[in-house]
Amino acid sequence: MDTRLANRVYYFEESQTLEMAKKARELSAKGVKVINLSLGEPDFATPKHIIEAAKKAMDDGFTKYSPVAGFLDLRQAVSDKFLRDNGLNYSTNQIVISTGAKHSIMNVILALINPGDEVIIPNPYWVSYSEMVKLASGKPVFVPSNVTNNYKSPASAIEAAITDKTKMFLFSSPCNPSGSAYSKQELKEIADVFEKYPNIFIVSDEIYEHINFVSKHESIGQFQSVADRVITINGVAKAFAMTGWRIGYIGAPEFIAKACEKLQGQFTSGANSIAQRATLAALTGSLEPTKAMTAEYLKRRNLVLKRLDEIPGVKANVPDGAFYIFPDFSYFIGKTLNGTKIISTRDLCYYLLEVAHVSMVSGEAFGNPECIRISYSLNETDLNFAFDRIKEALTI
Ligand code: GLU
Repeated sequence: MDTRLANRVYYFEESQTLEMAKKARELSAKGVKVINLSLGEPDFATPKHIIEAAKKAMDDGFTKYSPVAGFLDLRQAVSDKFLRDNGLNYSTNQIVISTGAKHSIMNVILALINPGDEVIIPNPYWVSYSEMVKLASGKPVFVPSNVTNNYKSPASAIEAAITDKTKMFLFSSPCNPSGSAYSKQELKEIADVFEKYPNIFIVSDEIYEHINFVSKHESIGQFQSVADRVITINGVAKAFAMTGWRIGYIGAPEFIAKACEKLQGQFTSGANSIAQRATLAALTGSLEPTKAMTAEYLKRRNLVLKRLDEIPGVKANVPDGAFYIFPDFSYFIGKTLNGTKIISTRDLCYYLLEVAHVSMVSGEAFGNPECIRISYSLNETDLNFAFDRIKEALTI
């Protein structure tokens, strides 16, 4: 611990998704062909009409500060999108555009969480949720699930975690890292629980909304019993292959939206103006490129399931969406592979990076140390190549 740094830097862990991606890049820079299954990033290019909109925005002079909460026409497009796709009613003054959905979530946590407040998070969860809550001096409270119940936390288990300190329920569906998506009925059961607790806010991260293989996406904010306490998070990174553009947004009760605007007024002055114009094109344009990408993700999911099935001892769920799978690799804990003793899935990830040159993220970071998160947003040739190597490296 470096005492020159503020204590808060030590309240939370480094992002393991980004750490593994960095390690993969470092190895690649040494000339090693590394297959990166660690980072959740579409391998597709941003659709052409969105790129054109960004170029036009520069030519049209959108190179200055935007309003802190985002351009009004973009907030209107988000409001229309919420109504059209999700049946959610958020007016433009309830919408804030931010620098990626990650920033949107951090804003909401900073706006609502006081020291000691509890945030219920179904486990497994996206790496940054727990760390963001800790950064705000809140306390993450996890509701466990596992591969046998498809990594979904039933409403009864969520209710059992509620205390008089609970301030927020934070979840993603489709879920990063498991790919599980809650059905309308399951969400209704969760909404029915929170109807009884009017002081708890629900933060619904729907960034993988469009990457759903089984059904139409459902939002918890559609249930009127809780709608006025739901903050819906979304963005363009995953659906439109726009990770680097860094645009996320929220629909929230107006007082929360105002607080988020105030926060980012001091942190960023608002999101990138050109990326906001590109986002307007994404949200008002055709969803055909998104559908085509989703069809590819489905093929890849099926390929990954088939390839995982060839590895003894691995138990995998069947993801409903997103582009992740979260198999249980506990079979290998305690085993020795090529002279390396594996004592955790973190060890296993390092071993597979070094020996198979495939990078993946240990489930530890997502709340389940028996699992590994595999991001399959990669073409089938590279996926097959990666699994050939993984299979060989895991042969005992
Ligand atoms: N959300 C992606 C992931 O889970 C991007 C990396 C990150 O921000 O953690 O891999």
